[in-house]
Amino acid sequence: MFATLSDRLADTFKNLRGKGRLSEADIDATAREIRIALLEADVALPVVREFVAAVKERARGAEVSQALNPAQQVVKIVNDELVTILGGETRRLRYAKTGPTVIMLAGLQGAGKTTLAAKLALWLKEQGKSPLLVACDLQRPNAVNQLQVNGGRVGVPVFAPEPGNGVGDPVAVARASVEEAKRTLHDVVIVDTAGRLGVDADMMKQAADIRDAVQPDEVLFVVDAMIGQDAVTTAQAFLDGVGYDGVVLTKLDGDARGGAALSIVSLTGKPVIFASNGEKMTDFDLFHPDRMAGRILDMGDMLTLIEQAEKAFDADEAAKAAEKVASGDFTLDDFLQQMQQLRKLGSMSKLMGMLPGMGQFREQLANFDEREIDRIQAIIQSMTPGERADPKIIDGSRRSRIARGAGRTVSDVNQLIDRFGEAARMMRQLASGGGMPGMPGAPG
Ligand code: GDP
Repeated sequence: MFATLSDRLADTFKNLRGKGRLSEADIDATAREIRIALLEADVALPVVREFVAAVKERARGAEVSQALNPAQQVVKIVNDELVTILGGETRRLRYAKTGPTVIMLAGLQGAGKTTLAAKLALWLKEQGKSPLLVACDLQRPNAVNQLQVNGGRVGVPVFAPEPGNGVGDPVAVARASVEEAKRTLHDVVIVDTAGRLGVDADMMKQAADIRDAVQPDEVLFVVDAMIGQDAVTTAQAFLDGVGYDGVVLTKLDGDARGGAALSIVSLTGKPVIFASNGEKMTDFDLFHPDRMAGRILDMGDMLTLIEQAEKAFDADEAAKAAEKVASGDFTLDDFLQQMQQLRKLGSMSKLMGMLPGMGQFREQLANFDEREIDRIQAIIQSMTPGERADPKIIDGSRRSRIARGAGRTVSDVNQLIDRFGEAARMMRQLASGGGMPGMPGAPG
């Protein structure tokens, strides 16, 4: 998302490079380019107008700065204005003072509500909460089941009407769920409501009835960022029909132009609270306007990167691996574990995309083949524990059996074993050669 906008803005800033000061003509040209960049990214016209006017005004009044050259000043102004239209401060979730916090989700079918419900539940669990998922989408066949499956994936129980009781009344289910949460000591209730393919009066009425019955602490409007300008119209319709406190943008991992994300806050006056950016349950986080702006301007997003790395990095595991390397006990199993550790950092390309200045490598990153890790994993998992511990025992016939088991060729297996052998040899050398300070030498 935002790739074209990022590139466009980068070009604009490049044209300012080397300028000692900004002339009126420079400012006009820059404003024009920013305007085109935003319109091409599908940002709604009124938002574009406001944005460009603000940038122009501030660029004209920009102080002669010691620290920043004119190009940097414009980058800073655009960054500030982006943060503003994205909502300014990060909006945190509000919890109830007493009794369970009730969060209600509303949005069109396919927006990603059911997926989001489970992601949110997992996120809340990580915040030390004890959430209960509630299936009030009784319209779409399979919606209850889908929520149960997703709930199972994140280890959160789902409150749903008993099967076989006909269609069921979503309002009654919602009301009963809050009682159930009190009884079973769940402190957050997440109510997933029914969506339709398009905006529809019945759907709005049902959502409004559920809202009235459970008095949510937060009503969140869930919207697919990939639907472009339609997102803005839908957001307005739900604001009028149901009302909500905040927005959740889903599918930010897609390659849509992202204008919806940039327009929704300004046009509805409601903050984006969460962002969802992938199919995995962990592809979800609070929405930080400043970080999003930084990412659009390709200034990197070190904060998110550091947070994610901290979450994924297991210091105990790392120490154990270092010890094994030192003692020459590093096996294919350990190798695999290290890869899985890497994988936890999220997809490599996504990660790299957060680093400053990586915009120019976007194409190479998009071509990075993450399936390579899957292939290696398949091969290692086709080996017996003995083989993994000591690959030297793997002879020709075992290699072809492993290849068959993993659905790879013998040459893939050979390559992996060679690569591992080389890596293990290098690690042993490093560990025993005294070349690396702080590493204990290998015994014997
Ligand atoms: P609902 O009808 O609103 O409950 O939508 P679902 O939760 O069933 O999601 C619709 C589709 O979008 C499913 O195939 C999801 O896997 C997919 N989806 C949901 N969130 C994301 C996301 O953040 N990124 C991507 N790529 N797909 C998503």
